[in-house]
Amino acid sequence: MTVAQAEVPRIPDGRLLIGGRWLDAADGERFVVENPATGKPLAEVCRARDKDVAKAVAAAREAYEGAWGTMDARDRGRILRRLVTLLENHSEELVHLESLDGGKPLKATRRQDLPAVIDCFDYYAGWADKLKGDVVPARSDALTYLLREPVGVVGAIVPWNFPLMNAAWKVAPALACGCTVVLKPAELTPLSALRLGELALEAGLPDGVLNVVPGFGTEAGAALVSNPGVDKISFTGSPAVGRWIMKTAAENVTRVGLELGGKSPNIIFEDADLKRAVAAASSGIFFNAGQVCSAGSRILVQESIKDEVVEALVERSASLAVGDTLDEKTMLGPIISEKQLDKVQAYVAVGQSEGAKLVAGGNRVSRPGYYLEPTVFANVDEHMRIAREEIFGPVAAVMSFKDEQDALRLANSTTYSLAAAIWTKDVTRVHRLAAKLSAGTVWVNTYGHTDTRLPWGGSGGDSGIGRDLGEAALANYTETKTIWVNLRQ
Ligand code: ADP
Repeated sequence: MTVAQAEVPRIPDGRLLIGGRWLDAADGERFVVENPATGKPLAEVCRARDKDVAKAVAAAREAYEGAWGTMDARDRGRILRRLVTLLENHSEELVHLESLDGGKPLKATRRQDLPAVIDCFDYYAGWADKLKGDVVPARSDALTYLLREPVGVVGAIVPWNFPLMNAAWKVAPALACGCTVVLKPAELTPLSALRLGELALEAGLPDGVLNVVPGFGTEAGAALVSNPGVDKISFTGSPAVGRWIMKTAAENVTRVGLELGGKSPNIIFEDADLKRAVAAASSGIFFNAGQVCSAGSRILVQESIKDEVVEALVERSASLAVGDTLDEKTMLGPIISEKQLDKVQAYVAVGQSEGAKLVAGGNRVSRPGYYLEPTVFANVDEHMRIAREEIFGPVAAVMSFKDEQDALRLANSTTYSLAAAIWTKDVTRVHRLAAKLSAGTVWVNTYGHTDTRLPWGGSGGDSGIGRDLGEAALANYTETKTIWVNLRQ
């Protein structure tokens, strides 16, 4: 194993960041955070509940009405840029911290997560002083103009699969727009959010602008959602919790953005470059052990090439290096927790009992931590649960289709709408399908990319509503005010 001991990061001491100070939870409780690659404890973190969240929301309100709200936009941008520099300087430390906590192989965190986090803060730092209103000449007897104002206090609730990246996707645009934030990281992965809080203070972010309150969903998360002092809840997580959040937020008519689940179709036509399609299909489902909302969990293959694709997928899955998170050679790391592993294994059993053909994997890997072999099911039928439900693990369901119409029907046959991919050389087919696929993002002859500049989110249903990233995300954190000035004498 090539663990770079020198890079083992300092683990944040686990207190809550509220109003610029590091505090114990009001009731003094802590919870244990595990390393999923070993099952061993990694840290103890304060467990925020109602009182702590209320304190954080009050601090965020004060900062919104005070230091941050009254600061020149240019200066807000400068502070965010200082944070970018600090993130760059501490990038390798953050890579290790994130990998230890979330179980994602170092290589993947280094190649994807940290660059995306840095790029995200950099991009939105640039927006801070470029947001502007408008003049709308509605009437000759009035000057009518529009101000673009921050919504206020944002509650950001994020999951454990891309802890820092998901936090950045919400915190960066919210701060750039002049909002203040209470960030509730997932209870399984709170460490990088705490480190982000430390770096934000070091960058000069005024007290209370970013508050970090680790805790459990039904405690800290629920308290944030029901707090009337929160103006917007920006959530990424499961459809069930998303639904609950939307209902609960209705009580105070709090704005909500929901990035939820996926069961994304990766559609391979017979004229595709099969070598590339199979390689991307494999990484599309096995990246981060399938714990990705846009995982290509349904691989739709044209009948004529079905056997060839299944064979190649099986071969590839056998070649994936399963191993410790900190081993530079590891391609497939652990599942986040024992509970999640049990859930994924239960789906493997469901697939078998439903009559799908298990052609690769399916077993827990006998080593410490929570590993599952890369798993492939062939002969999957659209009515099976493994074809309809999000598994959130390294389990691919391969299904076959006859023609374009059939592929489209199958692709759109779930309650999800996050992403889809098409593999073909036929350019007219690309555009026909891209327009009709029920998805917030459609990849063509590639899989899985996101970029800070491009909006990301579901097209309704179990994939949620609203967009992170790009210019589109600025709308999440700003509102238009109409000013009508009477010009009549
Ligand atoms: P996952 O299945 O990815 O763990 P969850 O939706 O359970 O997805 O969790 C995503 C985030 O939502 C986590 O930070 C979690 O603590 C939080 N969460 C879970 N339940 C609730 C809830 N009832 N209210 C607010 N946040 C919640």
